Order: sequence, then C-alpha cells, then structure tokens
Amino acid sequence: MSNQLGDAKKKLNVAIVGGGLVGSLEALYLAKRGHRVSLYEYRDDIRNTPLARGRSINLALSIRGRRALKDVGLEDLMINQHGIPMRARMIHRPDGTTYAMPYDPRTNQCIYSVGRNYLNSILLKESENLDNVERYFNHKLVKSNFKDGSLTFMKMDTKESLQVNADLIIGADGAFSTVRKEMMKQPLFNFSQQYIEHGYLELCIPADKDGGFQMPPNYLHIWPRGNFMMIALPNQDCSWTVTLFMPFKNFKEINSEGKLLDFFKKYFQDSIPLIGEKKLIEDFFGGSPSALVAVKCRPYHVCDKALLIGDAAHAVVPFYGQGMNAGFEDCTVLDNLFQKYDDDVASVLEEFSNARWRDAFAVSDLAMYNYIEMRDLVNRPSYRLRKSVDDF
Ligand code: FAD
Repeated sequence: MSNQLGDAKKKLNVAIVGGGLVGSLEALYLAKRGHRVSLYEYRDDIRNTPLARGRSINLALSIRGRRALKDVGLEDLMINQHGIPMRARMIHRPDGTTYAMPYDPRTNQCIYSVGRNYLNSILLKESENLDNVERYFNHKLVKSNFKDGSLTFMKMDTKESLQVNADLIIGADGAFSTVRKEMMKQPLFNFSQQYIEHGYLELCIPADKDGGFQMPPNYLHIWPRGNFMMIALPNQDCSWTVTLFMPFKNFKEINSEGKLLDFFKKYFQDSIPLIGEKKLIEDFFGGSPSALVAVKCRPYHVCDKALLIGDAAHAVVPFYGQGMNAGFEDCTVLDNLFQKYDDDVASVLEEFSNARWRDAFAVSDLAMYNYIEMRDLVNRPSYRLRKSVDDF
C-alpha cells in the first residue's frame, strides 16, 4: 500500500459508482492515499439486507485478491478468521466415487472459499473507520457527464433526483454498468458482450444434524458431466453452496419433480441424500437459472475524468474463479500507478487503460476455456495422474 498524500498535494474528490466488492475496496485504497471518496450504491446497505437469490453466495479468493486485501489490512481477517481453504478439486464420478486433484502439490498454495456478503460487509465496515469516505446507499446513477464531472442519482427511497460533481468518476457498477453506457458514446470506445448458452442455478447442501460438514470441506467439489456440471463450495456454517451450470434448454426440459429426481439420480446421485429430495425440489423450482455474460471493452478511461474497474470493465464467466480477483487486482494496479505518477490522474488512467486490457482479455478467454476443462476435460484420460481421496 502506497503512502498518503502530503498536505500540499491536491486531494481528489472521487465519486465511486457501485458499492459492491470492487467499488468498496477501491474506496479504501483511495481514502488511504488521502483522497476524498463518495461511494454511491444502488441497493440498500448489504449489511442490512438478506442475500439476494441468484448472486453467488460464496466465491473463491485467490492470490490476486489476497494481495489487495493485504494492502488494505484485511487479509488476515478474511483468510485466517473467515476463509475456508480449498486445496484441491474433488471430482465426483457418476457412480458416486470421488478422487482429488490438488491445485498445487509442490508449494501447497490454495484458494479460499469466502462469503460474498461477509467480504462486502468488512470492506464497507473498514471504510467507516476512515473520515474521508462517505457512503450513499439507495442511490442509483442515472446519468453522468464526463466533461464537467457531474453525476445524477435517483434516491431510491424518495425518488428524488440528486446532482453532484466529482474530479474523478469511477464506474465499479458491475457487468451492466451505467458509467460504461455513457462511455459508449465516446469515439474510439470498443465494446463487445457475449452471453453463453449456459445458465446457473444455486442449490444448497445443509450442515449435518450435528452442525458439521457433510463432505470433506477443504475442496472445491466438482461433478463434471460433459456438457454441464455442478460445483460446491463450503460455507462458514458448514453448509455448501451448490451451483448447477447447464444450457438453458436443459433447465427448461426439467419441468416436473419426477424429471428433476430422474435427472439427479442419473447424473448427481451421490448429491441427493446430501441435499435432501424435498430441499432439492424446493430450491430447484423456487428459483430460475441466471444468465452468464462476458464483457470486453477498451479503453477503460476518459481523459482524467472517468474510469471503469471490476466487472464494469471486464465481466467474465465464473469458471476460472477470477472475476472478483481480477477486479481486486485492478485496484492494486491503480494504487501502484497513483504512486508511480504521484497522483497525476491523467497519466494514471492512461497507463491503466493501456496496460490492463491485455490481462483482462486473457482472464476472460481463460475463463471461457476453463468451463470446457471443468465440465469435460477433467474426465479425460490425460488427467489419469490421479490420487485417491485417501492418498491425498
Ligand atoms: P458487482 O459485484 O456486480 O457490484 C456492482 C455494484 O454496483 C452492485 O452493488 C450494484 O448494485 C451497483 N450498481 C449497479 N448499477 C448501479 C447504478 N446505476 N448506480 C449505483 N450503483 C449501481 N469471482 C471470483 O473471483 N471468484 C469466484 O469464485 C467467483 N464466482 C462467481 C460465481 C458466479 C455464479 C458468478 C455469477 C460470479 C462469480 N465471480 C467470481 C465473479 C464476481 O462475482 C464478480 O467478478 C464480482 O462480483 C465483481 O465485483 P464488482 O464490484 O465489479 O461488481
């Protein structure tokens, strides 16, 4: 983490749009550099609201994300007090037998399962310890102007309009970014998005009757089945968030309880007693599959006035477990550039745009590829260098 601004230096007035994972982390980085940050979030404070269905409940945190959390002094809290290490993939065959594939047997590195709400909450809570961060929940950005740095918000509770000005506007407002929509009006701004034909639905394996894990916890469990797959990540309360990825047309075909149970008996037999038939039916028909989109765009900035980070700049499909991690890394890269250019915003934004897009495009392509690996290639003979669960 780089140094604070000296008293003589201009403190920027920064508006961050989006108080999700990346926006709330960026607020900490900028505030710790001495800038004044206003964080505007469309929804209510996540700490006061129950989890919205359809958004992943837990996430795999990797070294990129850990580095950023370390910079803002939160790595220990996340890793040692909350994160659950996942040291290997645990592959579930159709007959219910399993085997483990370690991520990094040489150096024993691993990824951590962390709760989205918890992570977002501790980032927001940490910002309350800094005098130069203001948080505005229930504020939806409707319009922005990069020439004069003005932003228009709608207050969701009163429907009043609010206009504010900022030296720098940072769009951390996710895959369907409103800041990015404004950028699309700029000449030479390139944009593409790709929906994949697969959607996802979240299910749950509850804790056992004694409150413990029903499966070995230090693994990312995968049921690869060729054109579709199911995965499970452990939660702090010993439950598992289970995510079924499958083409939308297959979701649609499973339109009765009988068909659902037949489908699970055929492909995910060992998961039925873990989830429980009743809960499986309730959760499957209680929700609807969500779409997955990948976004590529560039440049990420407009002069010294506006910047996109996180999913707003580069939403990726989730199969590489790197969307949030790459967004967190955006914040680390930015902080290094603020340090390098002594807080000269125009130089910082230009180099960020020029340097970052290649990495973002690469992560996006790897994530698309990794879906084929996770759901299919992992089962192929080239992966026969397997260790049994007992060996591992
Ligand atoms: P978001 O989390 O989308 O936050 C954007 C915020 O902006 C939201 O709070 C939203 O309310 C707010 N907002 C939107 N519009 C406006 C507006 N007009 N005005 C004000 N506020 C606005 N990544 C990983 O690294 N590891 C994983 O294991 C992983 N698993 C995933 C599993 C699934 C099923 C999915 C879908 C994604 C997964 N990801 C994972 C990706 C990760 O969720 C995203 O990359 C991450 O949430 C991006 O954070 P963000 O802050 O950029 O965007």
